[in-house]
This record gives sequence, structure tokens and C-alpha cells, in this order.
Amino acid sequence: MKQNKKILINGEYWTLKTKYGPRKRVGEVDFDKRILYIRPKQSQFELVSTIVHELLHIIYPYLDEDVIENGEGMYFLTEKILKMVEAEK
Ligand SMILES: [Zn+2]
Repeated sequence: MKQNKKILINGEYWTLKTKYGPRKRVGEVDFDKRILYIRPKQSQFELVSTIVHELLHIIYPYLDEDVIENGEGMYFLTEKILKMVEAEK
């Protein structure tokens, strides 16, 4: 994956950076600068689920961490995206 990637979310451009954010988490969102940090060197499954998790924070900022982490949407989207990634190979 390229290190910086622009993605359009709900009409706004965000920068996806595959590097540690300021808090050194697996994934981080900077709502002010519209930056999505994803820790590099994760397995494909971890990478996709981290991106899905952080995207859910961006799209549904009012949802609790618990709902995002344990909601069915998380599993549904991760599976769906993994299938898309597999199909591209
Ligand atoms: Zn979270």
C-alpha cells in the first residue's frame, strides 16, 4: 500500500497514512486534520479490520467504541472488504 492515500468519505477528502499516529495506536483518527493513521506491518486481516474500525469512527462519530468494536457491522464490512481484496489479486 502506498504510504499516503487520499480517500473521499461523505464528500470530504481524508488522508490515509500507513504509519503510527501521535498516540502510537494500531489505528488513529485526527478529525481536525482529517488524517487516518494505520500502523504498518499488520497482517492483511488486521489491516483491513483496523481501517474498517477507523472508518466507522469517521462515518459514525457518535457511536461508542464498544459498538464499533463489537458491532456486527464491523465483521460484515471486514469480511466484505477482504473478499474484495482477494478478488483483486
Ligand atoms: Zn476505536
